[in-house]
Amino acid sequence: MLQQTGPASPIQQQFPIRIHELLDEEKTSIAIRTMRWSEGVYCTRCNSKNVRKNGTSNRSPFLQRYKCNECNKRFDDLSGIIFSGSHHSVCVWITLIYFVGLNLSNCQIAAELDLTEKVAQDMTTSVRKAIYAKKSQPVLSGTAECDEAYIVAGHKGHPDAVQRKNRKGRRRRLKGAPGRSTLAKEKPPVLGIAQRGGDIALFMLPDVRIATIEPIIRSVIAFGTNVNTDEYSIYNRLGEWGYIHKSVNHAIGEYARDEDGDGHHEIHVNTVEGFWSLLRSWLRPPCVRIVVACGGCLTRLPRREGKRSVASLPSLRGSRRGRARRCVWQPHPRPTAEGQKDFP
Ligand SMILES: [Zn+2]
Repeated sequence: MLQQTGPASPIQQQFPIRIHELLDEEKTSIAIRTMRWSEGVYCTRCNSKNVRKNGTSNRSPFLQRYKCNECNKRFDDLSGIIFSGSHHSVCVWITLIYFVGLNLSNCQIAAELDLTEKVAQDMTTSVRKAIYAKKSQPVLSGTAECDEAYIVAGHKGHPDAVQRKNRKGRRRRLKGAPGRSTLAKEKPPVLGIAQRGGDIALFMLPDVRIATIEPIIRSVIAFGTNVNTDEYSIYNRLGEWGYIHKSVNHAIGEYARDEDGDGHHEIHVNTVEGFWSLLRSWLRPPCVRIVVACGGCLTRLPRREGKRSVASLPSLRGSRRGRARRCVWQPHPRPTAEGQKDFP
């Protein structure tokens, strides 16, 4: 069922395919119903299974409505889950979850699903919160690594908001504030605890103090675990807390150390350090996000290729910031020799 949410833009008229519109709303609703009530339908208020069907939902004819025989509560297939109360179809939601799984930016998800960025942000946030709420607290063991990184937050890239706060904007090569960064300085520390060959747990901290990290480390790392850190003094009490603590001294250029003489440098925090490099790239606004629509197929280009291709498109020439913040739909370029190279 094709949905038109507003007047079509020129690009929409040229490429009218929206991937969520290709999904069948009835089949999607049945799939959600099957997963949701896998152990039978129960009342969302009193958990009673003594319920009866009560027509279909006002929101969609494909969603079943129920009535509880115990407490008279009316509910439907979506009551009590994140899709509830949204005026977007289940097809939009399912496609959005799929895109979140593909790690697409909110901006690109908004473009794909014809949403505003604000709505896309709200929807992906509710999906991520729901996933996080279902996750149990990890307990790491074996050999764990602890390290902290400082992530720039606040109003970076929004000069108006910075000005309203009567603060100087950050510039490249501007000297940072002295001391360790904190949440109050809009550069919150993030504590990463990784189990080698296992999970990684991340915690945004208000500051980096022993009193802040102690309860986190005690709850996440199993007692008696080998814990590797750098030389930062907040980790000095790990031994007192019941862990086998080893550290490398980055200040003197030591990044990995072989203690048992087997030629394998087992004392290091390179697992977490490697994760930070991925996290920083992931958090950085992408230079160019491009979706190429070609004959009904949708392709997301790797960033480097997208950048190279887009540089040749006159509509995108402009300031660095303009390019960086733009999210575009563009047709497949002419099949020139270079084009073939860019779009295999
Ligand atoms: Zn009930």
